[in-house]
Parts: sequence; C-alpha cells; structure tokens
Amino acid sequence: MSSDILVVEDEPAIQELIAVNLEHAGHRVQRAHSAAEADALIREVRPDLILLDWMLPDVAGTVLARKLRADARSKDIPIIMLTARAQEQDKVEGLDAGADDYITKPFSPKELMARIKAVLRRRSPQLTDDLINVDGLQLDPAAHRVMGGGQELRVGPTEFKLLHFFMTHPERVYSRMQLLDQVWGDHVFVEERTVDVHIRRLRQALESTGHDRLIETVRGAGYRLHG
Ligand code: CA
Repeated sequence: MSSDILVVEDEPAIQELIAVNLEHAGHRVQRAHSAAEADALIREVRPDLILLDWMLPDVAGTVLARKLRADARSKDIPIIMLTARAQEQDKVEGLDAGADDYITKPFSPKELMARIKAVLRRRSPQLTDDLINVDGLQLDPAAHRVMGGGQELRVGPTEFKLLHFFMTHPERVYSRMQLLDQVWGDHVFVEERTVDVHIRRLRQALESTGHDRLIETVRGAGYRLHG
C-alpha cells in the first residue's frame, strides 16, 4: 500500500521521524510546518491522508480540520490528529472537528503505521492491496492485474485506478468532479471530460469478457459500478 501523506507538524525532529518512517513503509510524504502551509499544499495536490498536529504555530490543528471538512474538495480526506494531550475531553474535541483517529505523543512508529493502515482501509479501500471480486471480475492491486473469467485483461494505469475505486465503492454514483478528486487527486488542470475519455477506455478494456456492462452511465449525475 503506497499513498500520498501530508504531515503537518511544526517540530522538526518529530516531522523528520514521521516522514522517514512513512517513506520507509513506501508512502510518499509532503511536509507542512503550519496550518497555512498545509492549506496551500492541499489546494495543489490532494493527499490521501493527513497527519495533523494539534498545536501548530498559526492556528490549532482542530481549526484546520474543521475548515477541510467544510470544503467539498477536502471533506473526504482522512485525518489523524497528533497531539501531546491525552485527556478524554481533547479526544472528543479532535473527533468532533472531523478527525478519523487520534494518536497521542509519544507514539511508536509501528503504532502510527497500524493506525494509518486502519484508517485508509476504512475510508479509502481503493488505496489498499486487498484483492477484490465483483461479478467474475477480479482486481489484484498487489500484482496490478485484472482478470475476467480467468482471462487477464489489459488495463492502463489510470483505468486501473478508476476501476479499483469503482470496485471498492459499488452501487454509488460519482460525479466527474468526485472521480477527479478520488482517482486523480491532483486535478487542478484536468478537465471533467477527461473522466469520460478514461471511462471509455476502461469499458473497452473490459469488453471482451462483457464486464463493461458493470460501468453504468447515470444521466446528469455521473458513473456507477453495478456490483
Ligand atoms: Ca506542535
């Protein structure tokens, strides 16, 4: 499992320790030292997960968490709060602000990795390496392989991510903008019709086994995987 993680932490030693451990585990890391810096980075590239320190030099981490939750583009990004506070009331406040989990300093890198994995599995199953089956179509993220009725299907890298997202979120309609957020991440300069191009390619890739019928167009709304 490899994801883009934004670490928002103003203490250089802790920032470095976390970043090194994340990179060692195969993640790509971006660093911010204040809420303002984090906000600017998130506008450019949508991270898969944010590790957010509570005590930042400009505003509290909880303030940033609330702001991200209120914005359509960032409301679905999983957030884990990092803090030295251990009181029950603070935990409630952190979770109220929209954090998915909460980890108290000092923590072991092993514990942090386990929490990240658990949050991603729950919130972003398309980022995990779990094998998925939908109606005879099998997607293996670790091997980067798609099988339909025992036959390997050739799927391009973007179509693979798109299919992975759909297969982990069946029966829900996603707009083009939502798909850009979830699948492309960095989409500031990507047009919505790009989604249609890749949907077309994906359907072509699935045609030989008839699995193209799984990808439904919902008029005026977007696309859905019929599971
Ligand atoms: Ca701090």
